[in-house]
Amino acid sequence: MAMLTIAVVGGGAAGLMAAGMAARGGARVLLFEKNQKVGRKLFITGKGRCNVCNDCDAQTVLANVPCNPRFLYSALDAFSPADVKAFFEQEGVPLKTERGNRVFPVSDKAADIIDALYRFVRREGVKLVQEEVCEIATQDARVSGVRTARSFYGADRVIVATGGASYPATGSTGDGYRFAKALGHTVSPARPSLVPLVEAGALCREMMGLSLKNVSVTVFEDNKKVYEDFGEMLFTHFGVSGPLILSASAHMRHFGSKAYRLEIDLKPALDRKTLDKRLLSDFEKHKNSDFINALGELLPRKMIPVVVQASGIDPHAKVNSITKEQRRRLLDTLKAFQVGISGARPISEAIITSGGVSVREISPKTMASKKVDGLFFAGEVLDVDAYTGGFNLQIAWSTGYLAGVSAAQG
Ligand SMILES: Cc1cc2nc3c(=O)[nH]c(=O)nc-3n(C[C@H](O)[C@H](O)[C@H](O)COP(=O)(O)OP(=O)(O)OC[C@H]3O[C@@H](n4cnc5c(N)ncnc54)[C@H](O)[C@@H]3O)c2cc1C
Repeated sequence: MAMLTIAVVGGGAAGLMAAGMAARGGARVLLFEKNQKVGRKLFITGKGRCNVCNDCDAQTVLANVPCNPRFLYSALDAFSPADVKAFFEQEGVPLKTERGNRVFPVSDKAADIIDALYRFVRREGVKLVQEEVCEIATQDARVSGVRTARSFYGADRVIVATGGASYPATGSTGDGYRFAKALGHTVSPARPSLVPLVEAGALCREMMGLSLKNVSVTVFEDNKKVYEDFGEMLFTHFGVSGPLILSASAHMRHFGSKAYRLEIDLKPALDRKTLDKRLLSDFEKHKNSDFINALGELLPRKMIPVVVQASGIDPHAKVNSITKEQRRRLLDTLKAFQVGISGARPISEAIITSGGVSVREISPKTMASKKVDGLFFAGEVLDVDAYTGGFNLQIAWSTGYLAGVSAAQG
């Protein structure tokens, strides 16, 4: 059989992996990337350190994929977290594992991951084409090539790895959704995930710029607890952000039909009894002051007026007049500070796009389209997304690997 020509659209995590593996499988591979450089989004992953994957088994990966996890069985079987680690180590990037089994390059440089992938595709003979694909061409329900503004490139197979619609400045502008729709695929609406949250009121604005370390956040969906975690968060002019909030947002998937609120435990290390003792000792020190002036040792300055207001206690009441019942209300506020959430920030500010090309129309064993012969999908363009911890890149590596290997098979 003549050598297959494979066009890979998108030089991100999934596309680079797919292109290199397809070339290793014996195909002639053209990798189309509209940016001057490949892997622009990879460059900013993990705050520039790239959380490459999570050092865990396939079951744990699947437990971190809230939507369509079963679709990923074969891809994870073909290219597991252990395989990802071995791949990068073999490509000359030593890795280390941090808290929560998160894997990073020892160098803490995402650029090392991109360089390794770049070397890999070049060594396997992939031809890089720095052009934007504007259309995937078909003939008699099978792909025939890709069209750019400049030219038409014939191909026997096309792998769409154009990413989602988040952080569009990196090149991921949702083109793959358009291609998929034009070819008859169902695309579920793109929604932001791992995204800052907008508050229903205006409390957060008053504390804008304040970052809290070591707090615990609980998410309530229609008053039912759906998530709880501990870490760092930030108040902004629109609401809340920071690592803890981004993770929490992935569990809030029904804005519009369900009501959400956050409860922030400002003192998770102290149980109510211990915190009450602490309050009593602070109050003793400040017994002749106004209440609003008695919380300086307990809370950051910007938070004090907001907490005082939420407690319902007169800010100018003398501390020695505060009743046990009022102290109980203050404890409620400190252990469960309420922030109503009205929605998420736009998709352009989201780490991840949830939604995408329906996985029902893709073979999980090959990543091939069930609708158009010779068409494959990989990475974030698919309707699968995960929580934080290296799982989203794992999806890109595994689906990219499987699409590349399968597309190269005759
Ligand atoms: C700030 C930030 C931090 C993140 N940190 C992590 C992390 O630490 N760990 C983790 O697991 N995940 C992380 N993610 C998520 C992760 O980066 C993505 O899930 C992953 O990059 C998806 O890979 P992909 O190959 O599908 O898409 P992308 O990496 O988005 O690549 C798509 C590529 O396709 C190109 N392209 C698009 N359309 C066309 C076209 N028409 N023609 C030619 N080229 C085109 C784009 O320019 C782009 O280079 C982070 C995301 C962001 C935004």
